[in-house]
Amino acid sequence: MQGLLYNPPLSLYVHMPWCVRKCPYCDFNSHAAPGTLPAEKYIDALVSDLEQELPLVWGRPVQSIYFGGGTPSLFSAAQIAVFLSAARARLNLRPDIEITLEANPGTIEHDSFPAYAEAGINRVSLGVQSFDDNLLKRIGRIHGRLEIEQSLRSLNSAGISNFNIDLMFALPGQSPGQSRRDVEQAIDAGPAHISFYQLTIEPNTAFAAQPPRLPGHDTAWEMQQTGLEILEASAYRQYEISAFAQAEKQSRHNMNYWRYGDFLAIGAGAHGKITLAADGQVRRYAKHRHPKRYLQGPESGDWCAQMHVLSDEELVFEFFLNQLRLKQGITVNDFSARTGLPWKVVESRLQTAADKGLLEVRDKHVRHTALGWRFVNDIQQMFLP
Ligand code: SF4
Repeated sequence: MQGLLYNPPLSLYVHMPWCVRKCPYCDFNSHAAPGTLPAEKYIDALVSDLEQELPLVWGRPVQSIYFGGGTPSLFSAAQIAVFLSAARARLNLRPDIEITLEANPGTIEHDSFPAYAEAGINRVSLGVQSFDDNLLKRIGRIHGRLEIEQSLRSLNSAGISNFNIDLMFALPGQSPGQSRRDVEQAIDAGPAHISFYQLTIEPNTAFAAQPPRLPGHDTAWEMQQTGLEILEASAYRQYEISAFAQAEKQSRHNMNYWRYGDFLAIGAGAHGKITLAADGQVRRYAKHRHPKRYLQGPESGDWCAQMHVLSDEELVFEFFLNQLRLKQGITVNDFSARTGLPWKVVESRLQTAADKGLLEVRDKHVRHTALGWRFVNDIQQMFLP
């Protein structure tokens, strides 16, 4: 590292590792919930975990908190409130902080969102995936259309207008018409944000062991293009590969991730990244993955499964891996501030991408070309360590 490293904006990610049952396509760190969730014990563990992280970030303002999972909405509003008041007492939370709860229809009691709002949640990400009962069954979801409608009504009565709908396409047996209807219904629900992404078969999932019949490549491409056109023709602008938002409604938390900001990570299997500008270091770390092991943390004091200081080449790769997902492009200043490296270390690779017509490099600013936006993976690979 030869330049000056700056501490970027800071967010807090909180992982809640249980779901009602495991979806067959899911490779997240989620576990089928036991009969009785050790919810209070888990919240106590989260607070202890947070406390041991504090020396890394003393005084730094926190701009967003994200409860992800798993299914955080399996935790009651009162339990979320206990954690948030502990966080408020220990961290410097910005007055306009964004606090998101991931929630799955079917895990929400009818009156829950007003209670979550009362607890401090001001943004919700709802795992809808499809509005079609048959397709939802085929991908093993526990909810149907009825539960989606109940969740939307509950969000409305809580006054939470800043919500995201997660929507998938290329589901088993899905037709382009069904995918189009899903997108239209998502828009009709009036969310501030829509995440629209393709179902992929990940290793070590039930679908990998017994693959369902998925729409072919051309059909999936058609679904994606149609979805994109409908979204762009309404109030939603694509700002990231899978993310569409109304004006000023981009996810602040995810933007910080993609812009290579810092993340405190607490909870089972949570991954964090912290810049220690004074030491000229950027660290990556992950917490113990299994909830049983994680719950031993308060007694053992052992939270981390791994931690390492990123090398210069890893910094370059991670920076471009994330930033290239964003439509807004990349500036020289961001690169140098977030990696502590001079621009010259990437100039030749950028020039190669520009020569292939994938990137435009102008006035210390890099943008995808239309072709480059279709081949983001190829550009990312040019920055592999
Ligand atoms: S609800 Fe989400 S996190 Fe839980 S198993 Fe299904 S896909 Fe995975």
